[in-house]
Amino acid sequence: LRLSEKGCGFGMDEKLGKLGEFGVIDLFRRMVRPARDWVSTGIGDDCAVLKLGGAERLLVTTDMLVEDVHFLRDGISPSQLGWKSMAVNLSDIAAMGGDPAAAFLALGLTPDIDRTFLNALRDGLLDCASRFGVDLLGGDTVASNGGLVLSLTVLGRASSTEVVTRNGAGPGDVVFVGGGVGDSAAGLHLLLGSPGQIDPADRGQLLKAHLEPQPQVELGRLLARNHLVTAMIDVSDGVLQDLGHLCEESQVGADLLADQLPVSGAVRRLALSAGRDPLDWALSGGEDYVLLFCVPSDREAEAIRLCEKELEIQVVPIGTIGKERRIRVRRDGVWTRPEELGYDHFRR
Ligand code: ADP
Ligand code: MG
Repeated sequence: LRLSEKGCGFGMDEKLGKLGEFGVIDLFRRMVRPARDWVSTGIGDDCAVLKLGGAERLLVTTDMLVEDVHFLRDGISPSQLGWKSMAVNLSDIAAMGGDPAAAFLALGLTPDIDRTFLNALRDGLLDCASRFGVDLLGGDTVASNGGLVLSLTVLGRASSTEVVTRNGAGPGDVVFVGGGVGDSAAGLHLLLGSPGQIDPADRGQLLKAHLEPQPQVELGRLLARNHLVTAMIDVSDGVLQDLGHLCEESQVGADLLADQLPVSGAVRRLALSAGRDPLDWALSGGEDYVLLFCVPSDREAEAIRLCEKELEIQVVPIGTIGKERRIRVRRDGVWTRPEELGYDHFRR
């Protein structure tokens, strides 16, 4: 949850506003030259990848949720908050094709937080951890005089031949998403706005997508084990922006067929009644935590079949990779170059 549906709109000074979230990351990334030869992937992917003995690889990721930036205290239950903080990290392990194993939890707690809240937060977090075989092994606990902060670091493993980075996509590859997109952004709209008329089942589906995302760990493992994907990322910032990151790292571009995006009936119905464009939520909304991945074109049918057969997941082709380094979006037969590529923490 990011409080506004387009950018946080906080009082960031203009310099930070100009740099943008990825400008800030780049300030660090530019100066980092890993000193140790066990670093296989550093800054710039969903996880860092470290070489252990032989073919074993250690995956490491960290993600933070901050009150009033990612969530409102009265917009999410403590147990959902615990679940979500674990789920968004597991999604990054999934995006590397990894098997998540251990977690470390850093908490910044405000004085008003009580035992009941913490018990529920813990239960939600451990519920998600045990669902995916993850042990909580440590962390840190401090006072926060701002809002509540939850930062998780998750470790996972994979073999060297399984690890999928963002940078392997090649021209001709088919771009897929592993599930519906837009539900989470529509759920956020419900939380923030005046919902108007909405069917209770639709409301439940959209809020659940936003508040209790389901990381696609099994899907990531299946694709990695079968060496079906050339590059992968999870959709945290929106399809357009995350496809942009993948293309950037792979030094390619993509043609995206917006009409093929899997957009649920619930998203379409809410958009219609709210006077919104459902494809905006699907393309730029973010926080879907589905996998976005590239498959060589001669294995497209195999990928679809395998995911259906093994996991009953319908993966959906949404475009193709091209060598020209730009993203084009086709909608109702018309190609456009998107200006607005989803969410950025600081840019306004
Ligand atoms: P994701 O959405 O997959 O969690 P992000 O967009 O948050 O990834 O981050 C992109 C990359 O930049 C990741 O490799 C992440 O580890 C790295 N990164 C983000 N913030 C920092 C930072 N402050 N210092 C170093 N690396 C960072
Ligand atoms: Mg990610």
